[in-house]
Amino acid sequence: MDADTGIVRDHLGDTHHGDAVVICPGAEHSILGGKALSGLHRCRLQMMQTAPLDIPLRTALADGDSLRYYPVFDVPARKNLPAPSPATDRWRMQLLCVQRADGGLTIGDTHAYDEPFDVGVAEEAYDELRGRAERILGRTIPKTVTRWAGVYSQQPEPVAAVESRHVLTAGVHLITGLGGRGMTASPAVAEKQPRRS
Ligand SMILES: Cc1cc2nc3c(=O)[nH]c(=O)nc-3n(C[C@H](O)[C@H](O)[C@H](O)COP(=O)(O)OP(=O)(O)OC[C@H]3O[C@@H](n4cnc5c(N)ncnc54)[C@H](O)[C@@H]3O)c2cc1C
Repeated sequence: MDADTGIVRDHLGDTHHGDAVVICPGAEHSILGGKALSGLHRCRLQMMQTAPLDIPLRTALADGDSLRYYPVFDVPARKNLPAPSPATDRWRMQLLCVQRADGGLTIGDTHAYDEPFDVGVAEEAYDELRGRAERILGRTIPKTVTRWAGVYSQQPEPVAAVESRHVLTAGVHLITGLGGRGMTASPAVAEKQPRRS
């Protein structure tokens, strides 16, 4: 990359021109030798999607275990939560459930931090998530059509900013560490990005 001339060459050898270079490597912390991102963690999650449910689910669902994980719930009363169930403890899980346009349910998720991560996905975690969704909805949910796992980059607690941002050299920025909020928060992160600095 050449910040002065605004030219960058990607891993496929293609050249791009611009006012600034913004590198967003996600959970690929080894980029540039790994030094800039050595303070970040990686988190692996399991999720699933079902065939269409026969009724509309007009709201997104989250069970009480969600209160354990998100900084927004880090209030004094959080210490009064009961001890987590063995499944929650083991998989650091919560139920999140939202209906897609076709009626299917996207359901998550687990949180694993110990690397190396498993290659496979654990059926026990899916059984637990399915059971929780069925208890809340009061009905059997449709068969699973897709299972997947993904990894995101996360900052250590307490999180100082939404993203982890580094200026590598003038005009060259490295941004990652958005954790489980990157899809939601990315417009705000992009808006903060100066064209040149
Ligand atoms: C299972 C799961 C569920 C999630 N659910 C939600 C949710 O409900 N709401 C929400 O807001 N967020 C959610 N997130 C988090 C969100 O997906 C991330 O915060 C967001 O994707 C981070 O965006 P990013 O651009 O920083 O990184 P990424 O989306 O990881 O993109 C980085 C890209 O850079 C590529 N890359 C890395 N190194 C190189 C290289 N050297 N050369 C070329 N390409 C490279 C990677 O392959 C990848 O495509 C979830 C994440 C996971 C894994």
